[in-house]
Amino acid sequence: MSYHLTDEQILFRDTVRRLAADRVQPRAAEIDRRGEFPWDIFELFSEYGLVGVGMPEQYGGGGADLLTFCLAVEEVARVCATSSLIIAAQHLGAMPILVAGSREQQERFIPEIASGRKIAAFALTEPEAGSDAGGTQTQAIREGNHYRISGTKVFITNGGLAKTLVVFASTALSRKTRGISAFVVDGESSGLSVGRIEEKMGIRGSQTAMLNFDAVTVPANNLLGQEGEGFKIAMRTLDRTRPGIAAQALGIAQGALDVTLAHLKERRQFGKPLIEQQSIQFMLADMETRIEASRNLLYKAAEVVETAGFAQQASPDVTRYSAMAKLMCSDTAMQVTTDAVQLFGGYGYIRDYPVERMMRDAKITQIYEGTNQIQRLVIFRNLLEKGTPE
Ligand SMILES: Cc1cc2nc3c(=O)[nH]c(=O)nc-3n(C[C@H](O)[C@H](O)[C@H](O)COP(=O)(O)OP(=O)(O)OC[C@H]3O[C@@H](n4cnc5c(N)ncnc54)[C@H](O)[C@@H]3O)c2cc1C
Repeated sequence: MSYHLTDEQILFRDTVRRLAADRVQPRAAEIDRRGEFPWDIFELFSEYGLVGVGMPEQYGGGGADLLTFCLAVEEVARVCATSSLIIAAQHLGAMPILVAGSREQQERFIPEIASGRKIAAFALTEPEAGSDAGGTQTQAIREGNHYRISGTKVFITNGGLAKTLVVFASTALSRKTRGISAFVVDGESSGLSVGRIEEKMGIRGSQTAMLNFDAVTVPANNLLGQEGEGFKIAMRTLDRTRPGIAAQALGIAQGALDVTLAHLKERRQFGKPLIEQQSIQFMLADMETRIEASRNLLYKAAEVVETAGFAQQASPDVTRYSAMAKLMCSDTAMQVTTDAVQLFGGYGYIRDYPVERMMRDAKITQIYEGTNQIQRLVIFRNLLEKGTPE
């Protein structure tokens, strides 16, 4: 093991592991089946300080470093990916305010997000602007001391539930990425309505919605940073939140390996437990190796990102490590859960066993917060900037 966890981090990880096993795991299958936001889990995590675990203490958050935050997401994802997304999505909604908000804005918005009094969301994606956020069509037009935002956002996690949203809208369409600005928008603003709520393959208890903005009024002092800085703010946010998605993926993979091992020790074919078949042992060895390699990269990435702090400009290292961790952990999650289904045989394909859900949940980690093709683009660009090692 090349990473080092402090005694405090180990204690915290084990506490979350127990909480997840006792209170979340028993709900996981039902959350998936019902496809409804698990308010009981949101309340549980608010009570235990998990929704704001990675937010600064001065605003009522847990003040945890990024690795500790990742440990929380990983341990919850090990039993329920939807529930882990509660922590990751709240962090994502808060992050643009943390990286680019003024002190006054942070004091105004973060305490309610950190405590769980308000759900947060991050609204960047549009029907015609997914991987290419430069295609943002939502517009914010300044009128005196406020802006009016009009447009449509899609696939917004916590859409319709969030009371505080960070919305990316163009204040100068012709300037593409350099015309995008970031605004904190009240989820109860008039003119803001929920369009369709998506039926999804996985993370089914997370609400993913289309949001329509019809001349929504936003006070000018809700602009984060300056006009035109929104794209940079979004990228700096994702640098700091992709490790959370990597942690979610890692947890899903670990959870799938845990249940597969237990099953193969019990399941007998050809007169002995399946775990005694060497070809099965080799698959398990590969799963463990992938998971441990992913964990090492993620924990290293968390350290690199943490060292850069909240407010700094993204250094190429921060961006590259964050993208590499997300790429590797999510590919591991997909591979390991697919193998887990295979090793369960027919039982892996039916809903009574958790690996089927884990495989569906794993898929999204290769898609959101930038698809893995986009992670590769990001890594390659940074590789060029970094140059050849001396
Ligand atoms: C469940 C869920 C939750 C989400 N939550 C949020 C959220 O909270 N906030 C938010 O803003 N967004 C959210 N998203 C949106 C998500 O980030 C986007 O779906 C994702 O970035 C991809 O965009 P797209 O769907 O438009 O795909 P597209 O951009 O249309 O891409 C389609 C395919 O083309 C590939 N591709 C695109 N460009 C290139 C290229 N240059 N080179 C090679 N391949 C390329 C992609 O990798 C992908 O495989 C969520 C999505 C889902 C499904």
